[in-house]
Amino acid sequence: MNIRNCFFIFLTCFIFAYKISFSQTLFSFPIDTVDITGNFGEIRNKHFHQGIDFSTKRKENYPVKSIDDGYVYRIKISPYGYGKVIYIHHPSGLLSVYAHVNSFSDKIQSLVTKYQIQNQINELDVLLKTDSIEVKKNEIIAFSGNTGTSSGPHLHFEIRDELTEIPINPLFYFPIQDTTKPVIEHILFYNLSDTISPSPILSTFTKIKDTLLLPPIFAVGFSGYDKMYPKGNPNNIYKVQIFLDNQKIYQHRLQHITFDNTMYVEYYSEKIKNKIVQKCFAPHLYPIYFYDTLVNKGRIILSDTNYHQLKLIFCDEKENCIEKKFIIKTKHTPKYKSIKANSLILCTQSNTIKHPYFEIFIPEKSLFNDLNANFVFNEKLKKIQWTYSKSITLKYPAILKIKHHFNNNELKKSVLVSGNKFYSPENFDSQTITFKVNELNDYYLLVDNTPPLVKPLSFNEKKKGIILNQNTPNLFFQIKDNTKIQSIKTYFNNQFCISYFYGTKHLLKVELPNELIATDENFIQIIITDIAGNTTHKTYKIILK
Ligand SMILES: [Zn+2]
Repeated sequence: MNIRNCFFIFLTCFIFAYKISFSQTLFSFPIDTVDITGNFGEIRNKHFHQGIDFSTKRKENYPVKSIDDGYVYRIKISPYGYGKVIYIHHPSGLLSVYAHVNSFSDKIQSLVTKYQIQNQINELDVLLKTDSIEVKKNEIIAFSGNTGTSSGPHLHFEIRDELTEIPINPLFYFPIQDTTKPVIEHILFYNLSDTISPSPILSTFTKIKDTLLLPPIFAVGFSGYDKMYPKGNPNNIYKVQIFLDNQKIYQHRLQHITFDNTMYVEYYSEKIKNKIVQKCFAPHLYPIYFYDTLVNKGRIILSDTNYHQLKLIFCDEKENCIEKKFIIKTKHTPKYKSIKANSLILCTQSNTIKHPYFEIFIPEKSLFNDLNANFVFNEKLKKIQWTYSKSITLKYPAILKIKHHFNNNELKKSVLVSGNKFYSPENFDSQTITFKVNELNDYYLLVDNTPPLVKPLSFNEKKKGIILNQNTPNLFFQIKDNTKIQSIKTYFNNQFCISYFYGTKHLLKVELPNELIATDENFIQIIITDIAGNTTHKTYKIILK
């Protein structure tokens, strides 16, 4: 660790210590439908949930309100991620984030629309000056929606520290009534004597008795949930403590998680028999702040063959706790075995995997643990295959170089496919083509000559044209592509008009101007380009009523 890192960690700890002690400052709720259907630190696909979700009962356009006085600090519109999102800066030194919204309040929307039309863009990410858009506590700033990577209408809400932008568990800032204790479904025990990727040896899947015979070096995992009220949503459990003979040896709290460590979830949890299991032990590298107490990285070592008491305490944010106690013993004292593996990718150093057809460079500390895995080339499928059981997200991108026999035109249209992700080349020469990849996965090259497909959903294409009246301000189109959409522009009678692309839903919403300027020949034009540069132009005639 260099001096800068040391300083950063010290500073972060100091900020959070400061914040937590002053978290009594209560904010007002950002939405009236206070039903929290996802809490902070929940285990999601390849990330920790870094905010809280408010249910909007499968509907859109609920008013979203500022939790305190402040000013709009950032507005972002993107087809993926948080979709349409608004960031507010508060005098307390905190930022609040309101994501997946459908639209903004009139005052904010008019500025956004003006900016989009002036710059002829649909996507934006703008930082605003302190006095540009001031907002009051409880002022409506947006209307809830389902934009970006969102599986249904809801409001995703975050609180972040102003200086570090690190998300903080928002539940401490709201007056929430909760007297319901967490529920533990399963406790699991892992043998950690001799393996780098352990699987549980004993669990409540196979029934646990009061007195347990365990290996001399073991660790604990669990699955469970916490409800705010008896019929509430099963959210994640905030705090876990482990005591061996009344001495605390482990504690974590889901208090804050940085964005560059969110892939840590792939090491912290695993799916077993369709249950998400959370592991109370750390891999080789780990985000230090995640754990308050971490003796032996969570490995519980029994140095004698006597009986011991193991106590696990699980608590929610409001200190409703549940305790599980076991009497444990081991038959023999610990013996450390050396790890046997053929091909290890080490997490503390950079790794270069060389093959006649490809080369992959993985920077040091991109992984949190060593992996017993490799890449092989499948000649028949022309695929680079990752031998590990699942894809692994990297903290820092890897560089993948592949030998090619493409001509110039093919090179320009080449795309790397990795699971459901598509990458454009970073660069290429006559022999190799280079990509920056964010995960260790199977890879293959594709020459994409297929332009995107556009299909109108608001009207029948075979008919003469779209019959529109003033009550039909939006037109919907289905957009399909074999790789990924890069850009979309839409025009009404040759004038730029705003559209929003629901990237994961492959849906384009064209927002027609408020005052439709009718001429004899009205038409709407869609120009859409994929990441390989294939473009589709479509023109539809419009009949105004
Ligand atoms: Zn969310």
